[in-house]
Amino acid sequence: MPSDWAPPLSPQEDAPLVRINHITKEYLRGDEKVIALGDVSFSISYGTVAVVLGPSGGGKSTLLHILGGMDRPTTGNIYVLGDDISHWKSDQLAQYRRETVGFIFQSFHLIANMTALENVELPLMLAGVPKEHRHLRAMELLDRVGLADRHNHKPGELSGGQAQRVAIARALAADPPLILADEPTGNLDSQSGEEIMALLTSLAHEDGHCVVIVTHNEDFIPYADKVLRIKDGHVQEQVQSPPPSTHPIQRGNLNRAGWLTLYALAWHSLVHRLARGLLTGLGIAIGVAAMVLLIGLGSGLKSNVVQSVLSLGPLNAINVSPQAAHSQSGGILSPNVVSGPSRPITQKTLDRFSRLPGARGAYLNATFVAGATYKGRSTTAAVNPLPPEKFWHVPGVLPTIIQGHVSDKPLHALVPLSVAQALVGGTHPKVSQLLGKTIVFRVETVSGSLFTGQGLTGPSHPIRNQSIIVSGFVNSGLGFVPYSTAMTWFKEFSSNTHDLHYPGATVLAHSLSQVTPLTHRIGSMGYSTTTLQQALQSINKSFGLIETGLGAVGGIALVVAGLMIGVVMSMAVLERRREIGILRAIGARKRDISRLFLLEALSIGLIGGIVGIGVGSAVGYAINAVVDHSPQISHGIFTLPLWLVGTGLLFGAGVSIIAGAVPASHASSLNPVDALRQE
Ligand code: ADP
Ligand code: MG
Repeated sequence: MPSDWAPPLSPQEDAPLVRINHITKEYLRGDEKVIALGDVSFSISYGTVAVVLGPSGGGKSTLLHILGGMDRPTTGNIYVLGDDISHWKSDQLAQYRRETVGFIFQSFHLIANMTALENVELPLMLAGVPKEHRHLRAMELLDRVGLADRHNHKPGELSGGQAQRVAIARALAADPPLILADEPTGNLDSQSGEEIMALLTSLAHEDGHCVVIVTHNEDFIPYADKVLRIKDGHVQEQVQSPPPSTHPIQRGNLNRAGWLTLYALAWHSLVHRLARGLLTGLGIAIGVAAMVLLIGLGSGLKSNVVQSVLSLGPLNAINVSPQAAHSQSGGILSPNVVSGPSRPITQKTLDRFSRLPGARGAYLNATFVAGATYKGRSTTAAVNPLPPEKFWHVPGVLPTIIQGHVSDKPLHALVPLSVAQALVGGTHPKVSQLLGKTIVFRVETVSGSLFTGQGLTGPSHPIRNQSIIVSGFVNSGLGFVPYSTAMTWFKEFSSNTHDLHYPGATVLAHSLSQVTPLTHRIGSMGYSTTTLQQALQSINKSFGLIETGLGAVGGIALVVAGLMIGVVMSMAVLERRREIGILRAIGARKRDISRLFLLEALSIGLIGGIVGIGVGSAVGYAINAVVDHSPQISHGIFTLPLWLVGTGLLFGAGVSIIAGAVPASHASSLNPVDALRQE
């Protein structure tokens, strides 16, 4: 493993840093085989300047790429510090480039949106060097190349000579023993060219690096300790001067880039392409907002419906109807109830129900419909009996009272808010004035509980002019009168007061777990039953479907947003080929590149998700504010449960990661040499 290498403690004069042994490199251009290098052998030591000369197409760059671990030879070996790197895997070569090689290119290959300082820091970031250290080191190197005062300039604000100095400082960042320069003066005027050559030579002769410079300028031969003439893939070696005695470069304690460092790089690139990032994030935000809003509305509506069902009675109540059970299913609130042969419910039946195992008690259930009149205003009210007072301590048996109190006195009533509003009248009715007042009831009909969905029964003669005292208000459609009052009314309706047939009964179970067995017992006696438990189950089922449907609409929006991210990221990979090539040349691993792109996509997704949750819930709460005044809505119809926030974020992040995965893997699989060739 490369991490096991150690540089020789005291190198012999003739111990080469690099030894190239019978290297060939062939390319396929279509069907034609191109021999870029044919049987090349040479070696170079520390402290040496080797100048590679030759015509265009001679194989100079190919040689440099193989020396630098950017490409592998077709046959032959390269020994670096005694290790044969010619068959190393991609990650090992990346580490080799990070720690042992510094590349300098003809067109500088600085990253345009980073300052000189940031460019020099980049290899150290990829090598996992902590911020303060790499900062100090980069400043020191900029000083070494004479550009300390330009550290805050971007490459576009520097002259060609200055840009190449920054590139040299970057190549030196990790203090690599081997410096490779591919036509470093090719884009410079002759004055700057001489300065760069002098600087590169000093790196070898003063600091002990091994410097290989590719050029086609014969004027630079005097800088060389060794000249390698390369033509048609063959090398002629010519030693000019023996290498001066130098100290070998001690390789530093380098590592590789951690997630945080990569995140800093991803964030940097995101900030410098802010408009595009925002546009992509907008897609995610719209998708998440739609999802949060729709699902939030669905779950809010559900909890309102559940709440109003719960206001119908306690969960341990079983509503019994005299109609025999029928296999056919009814509506949400009456799953088993369809009219069949009637089995009477009498006081005796109630006593039998009360004695069933698991039963706490049983009492009459009926709905009376009455015309209500107050000070000349009239409306219709439906009222149920309250449970007998001995059951009032059972949690949930009493309705929720908005104002006033529950009373067991005959002819006292809890009145639905909507009835009270109709009786008081006006645009902003003050219903509280009705408390304690008397309203006149004309009881028209009695039926089984509305809850059991039974048809109207009962006589045709109304009970006239019952003076009812309003003791309180309830927020449901049904009002309540004391049990005794209901029994009195019921007897008045019945022709035979000795054999009363009740339209319905409520049986209270001792506990929730006894509801189902008790329901079966009552059913086997030939009665049909409905429980709030069943009702809640079917509500949950129906709303589950609604929520899934609403969520799917938001999901589709997210998929579209995901496609958008995918397209934008793919474009970014094409556009940033050169940047990817540079990062790879200075030692980024394949997975560093793919992580970089994934982290960028993830940031977009998370920010989009947060904005989407914000916008979606803002719209939701605005809807709540509008419907707030409606008495049917006990709490807002939009709710934002914590799981929905989590799901929103998860979807934003998930979609962006999925969408970013293909472009990221594409980016990481780019060949660094090809990526850099794109000009
Ligand atoms: P130089 O740098 O001396 O100008 P190169 O090393 O770039 O030469 O190229 C040497 C030869 O190999 C040329 O004929 C070139 O066209 C060919 N070559 C280099 N890279 C590739 C490649 N990726 N695919 C096909 N041919 C290539
Ligand atoms: Mg070249």
